[in-house]
Amino acid sequence: MRILIATSEAYPLIKTGGLADVSGSLADALRKQAVDARILIPGYPQVLAKTKDLEPIQRLDFIPQVGSVTLLQGTMPDRGTPVYVLDHPYLYRREGGPYQDMMGRDWADNPLRFGVLSHVAAVMSSGHSPLEWKPDIVHCNDWQTGLTPAILHYFGTSRAKTVLGIHNLAYQGNFAPEWVTLLGLPPHSYQIEGVEYYGQMSFLKAGVYYADAIITVSPTYAKEIQTDEYGCGMQGLLKTRARVLRGILNGIDTREWNPAIDPYLVRNYDIDRIGDKQANKEALQLRLDLDVDPHAPLLAVVSRLAYQKGLDLLLACASTLVHEGAQIVLLGSGDPALEFGFNQLHKAHPGRVSVTIGYSESLSHQIMAGSDIFLMPSRFEPCGLNQMYGLAYGTPPVVRRTGGLADSVHDACETNLESGKATGFVFEHANEAEFLTCIRRAVGTFEDKKTWRKLQTNGMRQDLSWTRSAKEYLEVYRSLLQ
Ligand code: ADP
Repeated sequence: MRILIATSEAYPLIKTGGLADVSGSLADALRKQAVDARILIPGYPQVLAKTKDLEPIQRLDFIPQVGSVTLLQGTMPDRGTPVYVLDHPYLYRREGGPYQDMMGRDWADNPLRFGVLSHVAAVMSSGHSPLEWKPDIVHCNDWQTGLTPAILHYFGTSRAKTVLGIHNLAYQGNFAPEWVTLLGLPPHSYQIEGVEYYGQMSFLKAGVYYADAIITVSPTYAKEIQTDEYGCGMQGLLKTRARVLRGILNGIDTREWNPAIDPYLVRNYDIDRIGDKQANKEALQLRLDLDVDPHAPLLAVVSRLAYQKGLDLLLACASTLVHEGAQIVLLGSGDPALEFGFNQLHKAHPGRVSVTIGYSESLSHQIMAGSDIFLMPSRFEPCGLNQMYGLAYGTPPVVRRTGGLADSVHDACETNLESGKATGFVFEHANEAEFLTCIRRAVGTFEDKKTWRKLQTNGMRQDLSWTRSAKEYLEVYRSLLQ
């Protein structure tokens, strides 16, 4: 089976969020199951620098607005997955991020940049492709390649089947209607039964409408996005497509996230040596200028600071928790008001609260290993990875019952504790009172060492691997090809 994963980011080439982890790890896990999975990604400077053995293989002509582009082929560092890099210096070789300039503003020509990416994915997946290698399935991801199924619908001959992966429905790629013709789509495609979406042309809607199958990153999120509360306006359409919509929980990269071999830790540990986790707590407290206190419950956050993540709820109850004896460590960046609020919190409680504004791979690993309880009070969470890292590192998470959090964390209620299913703490509604009550429940259990050990062990035993997720993806691919 040949699968082309068309994506705007893939770890370790370039990453801004969970999409990168999925693209990189899914390709790798599929290849381990004898699937010929390959990645197509734009040639940003970071991608050109990191992809191994890059060589030009083909010029593709007739791409709307830009004429021709060059396809390079290489391999992923460490993993060996073949990568097609879409090289167009003007569109992709820019300083800044994949979607935004250095000032954090969206690139004005994003519809063109990702329209071209969608076109190239479509060409490679149709009878028009000059390449020898042709995919059976093109697996698109989020709005950036959402146009591919529409392009194949209008122009594809002997086309591959299409899958659309939705990692976050909040980002839809909606642009002025002029882009329909600028991007080479027929004018009549601009209608409700097409790419039109509330007076704009929408990349994501195009994908949702035309893809043969739609996959979101958790079963609960697949149900939630069909409701008014979580559907971001697309709930009606998603309901009509419910038959081909499925949720598959992401895995985690167990080579990167495994406390037994993690090179960032002062002491490695596993399920039989959970006691060694303590050395990481002490090292973390020392590194972050927190009081070295083995008994204080150390609550942790590693996150984008965005409204979605619900961290304003933590800000509201943090002082209470500190007065009750907890320590808090936060690593993240984003919303300036939240950054300011957490910096103030640190100033008010030096030695008890540590706040690092920024992005740090090493510190995020040390926090997972060195803290006791991981906090994730998200308002919505398509899948979420950090709660799974927490489970793998014996750091039980406190999460809101939504999306992938609901699917990956089992509440430590009496029934679940007795059956050995409990792995963390779950609360229902995004308000301060429920969050605080849930954290207090976690801290109470933390003090009962025997139950805590059980909870840690249950989480560390859970199969969070990509091998499990890849098997489910394979089921979907097979059903499309039957
Ligand atoms: P999202 O994709 O919505 O940001 P996820 O939990 O799915 O949330 O994935 C977030 C990823 O980014 C994880 O791998 C997480 O560890 C990482 N991450 C987020 N913020 C930071 C940070 N400040 N420093 C290091 N890693 C971070």
